[in-house]
Amino acid sequence: MPRFAAVSGLAGMTPSGSLADGGVLFGRRVMTLVRGLHGDAVWWRNGRIEGVGTAREVDRRAPRRLPRFECRDALVTPGFVDGHTHFAMWALGRRRVQLIGAGSRAEAVARVAAGTPSQGWIVGHGWDANGWSEAPDRHVLDQVHAIPVYLDSVDVHAAWVNSAALAVARVMRETPDPPGGRIVRDAAGEPTGVLLERAVELVSRLVPTPSAEILDEAIRDAQAEAHRLGVTGIHDVEDERAWGAFRRLERAGDLRLRVLFHPPVAALPHLVRRGARSGTGSRWLGMGGVKLFLDGSLGSRTAWMLEAYEGSRDRGMPVASEAEAREAMRLAATNGIAVTTHAIGDAAVRRALDLLEQLPRTRLPHRIEHFQCVHPDDLARAARAGIVASMQPAHLLTDIPLVDRHWGGRGRGAYAFRSLLQRRTAMVFGSDVPVASIDPREGVYAALERKGFYGAPGQGWRPEEKLGFEEVVRGYTVGAAHASGTSRRLGRLAPGMEADLVAWAVDPAVERGDGDAFRAGHAALTVVGGRVVMHP
Ligand SMILES: [Zn+2]
Repeated sequence: MPRFAAVSGLAGMTPSGSLADGGVLFGRRVMTLVRGLHGDAVWWRNGRIEGVGTAREVDRRAPRRLPRFECRDALVTPGFVDGHTHFAMWALGRRRVQLIGAGSRAEAVARVAAGTPSQGWIVGHGWDANGWSEAPDRHVLDQVHAIPVYLDSVDVHAAWVNSAALAVARVMRETPDPPGGRIVRDAAGEPTGVLLERAVELVSRLVPTPSAEILDEAIRDAQAEAHRLGVTGIHDVEDERAWGAFRRLERAGDLRLRVLFHPPVAALPHLVRRGARSGTGSRWLGMGGVKLFLDGSLGSRTAWMLEAYEGSRDRGMPVASEAEAREAMRLAATNGIAVTTHAIGDAAVRRALDLLEQLPRTRLPHRIEHFQCVHPDDLARAARAGIVASMQPAHLLTDIPLVDRHWGGRGRGAYAFRSLLQRRTAMVFGSDVPVASIDPREGVYAALERKGFYGAPGQGWRPEEKLGFEEVVRGYTVGAAHASGTSRRLGRLAPGMEADLVAWAVDPAVERGDGDAFRAGHAALTVVGGRVVMHP
């Protein structure tokens, strides 16, 4: 395990609010991503970068009154942007009782007992009774909470509830199983509190939707967690409730993430009527492209493939007809709205390319989300058409065995980072949180090492597709700025650019491509719009 150097404490913090958007940072190296601009120190004022250079130079030029931050062992990069999030969903999910990894029923119940009620309910997620010696039942939950308790299983195909929740849902001995679902019952015929498949909805539909206040508070908390991890911006794929929350936070002066927002295709007629355009918005909140789906996912084998899955006759499936997708895309693009297309299988990626290539260009580039498997014949097409490939390296941590099993040799085109980069494809990297962790260390590690969560295979999986460290950082910075039309003010550390930056306490081995070293380090200081939003 490589060692990483601890960062020295921050010196010179001033309590004065008037200087909040200026500062001087001394690091080991500043990675500006601007050719010819180097240094180990950077300073900024009024939210914008003023200069990068040697510590002596910068110290001399920066006014005395600016706070000085000492991170002499740290690598400084532009702020990291997560190119694919479901941020509000994640934010709300963080407030639930977390049951992932609970190794016994008793441990799960103890976590539930410590849970905080919200709108009169206790809601939890992530239990997995495989390996428990005692089956989940309502009575053990009744002993810790009299108010309704609703707990999703890790695969969300089952729910575990208490007696109060069953009472609210009027589920009792006489209640018949709904079509496609089962109310699990004990020997006496009484519901045990476990609901399977469609029976889950008997209770889940009664769990209160979080109020606007709860949503806003959850997003504020999640924003602080993003800052802690070195994330300064997101490309968010969600509905109008999330948009409303970001708007409220911005109006309150509390939004400190650069948000590019991708509304669902269902909102398209409304967006067109309202005259919404991609690439418009404020410094904080911008309008992205409209999101539509062409296929499903690898894990559920619904990703749409050109040939059948290994050992099967099934090719997955398109989830929208070609005519339907073409029509929606045309309506969007002719009205100045970019198209953000979910495509995972090689057939879906090909169709996305076929359709997007024909569209008029908009102010923001059209993009393909996931781009998980691409046929060799299609490798150069995104670059040629100016389409952005929005990819999530951290999915490699779990997907390597699935790709081998389901796609066999076609895995050559899966997570084909280097092949795409060699063809000058514009790439943006993200996490798809909450599907994977928003922590950029996971994605950087995966893109550098191409290994599973526990480090296998040793040499990396299809190692010819590994990227170098700076190439990976570009995916989270320059690439994100390109995709959001903000390259003139974000993504690099040059004078005049907005001061969004992160000091990473990482071993210098990361710059030689050591993903383990990056994973073992941490963000030590995060600055957004010139303001220090996280320091130890
Ligand atoms: Zn997603």
